[in-house]
Amino acid sequence: MPPFPLSSATPSTSAPPLGQQMYQLITTLYPICRSITGDGVRQTLQILQQHVPLEIHEVPSGTQVYDWTVPQEWNIRDAYIKNARGEKIIDFQALNLHVVNYSTPIHQTMSLEALKQHLYSLPDHPDWVPYRTTYYQENWGFCLAHNQLLALEEGDYEVYIDATLAPGHLTYGEAHLPGHTTEEVLISCHVCHPSLANDNLSGMAIATFLAKYLATVPRHYSYRFLFIPGTIGSITWLCLNEAQALQIKHGLVLTCLGDAGKFTYKRSRRGNAEIDQVAEYVLQQAGIPHEVIDFFPYGYDERQYCSPGFNLAVGCMMRSPHGRFPEYHTSADNLDFVTAENLAESYRHTLEILQVLERNRTYLNQNSKCEPRLGKRGLYKAVGGHATGAVNEMALLWVLNLSDGDYSLLEIAKRSGLGFDQIYRAAQVLEQHDLLQVVR
Ligand code: ZN
Repeated sequence: MPPFPLSSATPSTSAPPLGQQMYQLITTLYPICRSITGDGVRQTLQILQQHVPLEIHEVPSGTQVYDWTVPQEWNIRDAYIKNARGEKIIDFQALNLHVVNYSTPIHQTMSLEALKQHLYSLPDHPDWVPYRTTYYQENWGFCLAHNQLLALEEGDYEVYIDATLAPGHLTYGEAHLPGHTTEEVLISCHVCHPSLANDNLSGMAIATFLAKYLATVPRHYSYRFLFIPGTIGSITWLCLNEAQALQIKHGLVLTCLGDAGKFTYKRSRRGNAEIDQVAEYVLQQAGIPHEVIDFFPYGYDERQYCSPGFNLAVGCMMRSPHGRFPEYHTSADNLDFVTAENLAESYRHTLEILQVLERNRTYLNQNSKCEPRLGKRGLYKAVGGHATGAVNEMALLWVLNLSDGDYSLLEIAKRSGLGFDQIYRAAQVLEQHDLLQVVR
């Protein structure tokens, strides 16, 4: 079966451009209060189901997953702080970041001094509200702008959090697109952050539209898309699908792909896996500012996929890396921080990585003692200088010469300096003439 086409997914003329569609999806998902468990994740996955055939899995609280336990489910309905005059000075309904994620319920009146023990702000960015969580330690808290904190008057405050922390489930979404081989490409993104656009929603939007496109085209690899809560979600999936994980040949964690920063590719733990080579090549060929960084055991779910017991070839595709942009984990990571254009560009380069992966093969030259006569086979006429799409003679010669069962087409492209597409087309033609046999 041929791999999917090289042209990017072009939406039908009546649909808005892809970047706009992804931005629209982010706008829809932005107000939802997600967490590592709970109805926010369910509601999010149900919206994604309008685009991709997601299977929604529910794993009960208390399930042991390696060294971890699936936590109790958290749901929040409302929260606020009122001052002595009964005015709501903090309102969860206005911004869900105001409540520390996983806060336990409370309804109490307390002094400013007592309240301050539970307030979080960012003195360096006094107008932004931080994003805080307390997943694994029962506590409660509110986040607010530092300027607002400084302006709080002495007096009593009514604190109200209408939330439940109770046995329930951890929810995640999974889409499997079978291909010509059972070997899989994993695309993973986290779905556990509330109103944060770049960290969380951008990865979800790109993964969703990639799945939507890939579902419509022939595929060499099978594709597995995971929409999971960070850390506990990937640990849970790996624990419950250990055998399936062995089918993962390449993978990408997608995150922070909607901002204007340069691209950052974080290599897999292996460091020189095919996905690492392909991602680096695609970003180089794109001629755009980018950085390729080595694996380190922090960040997103690549930490789990690349744990030594799995050591999967999973890298992480980002623009500005987590923690390295000031808006990270604050209210400034909002709908103004991501753009349709940046999302479209991120989508394009991520798809290009998959397109190269789909085509990258290693061949054995079937006429390896001296060059085969190309003219006799009509291949000499196919030499470049004709229309676009013509086979380049140098590409034929490079592929023949380096196809010793060792060099992949990507490595031939790199060594020859010719484009991967030219090398791929040459290999196609040579294979049709029985001059190449695929090795892997
Ligand atoms: Zn985050």
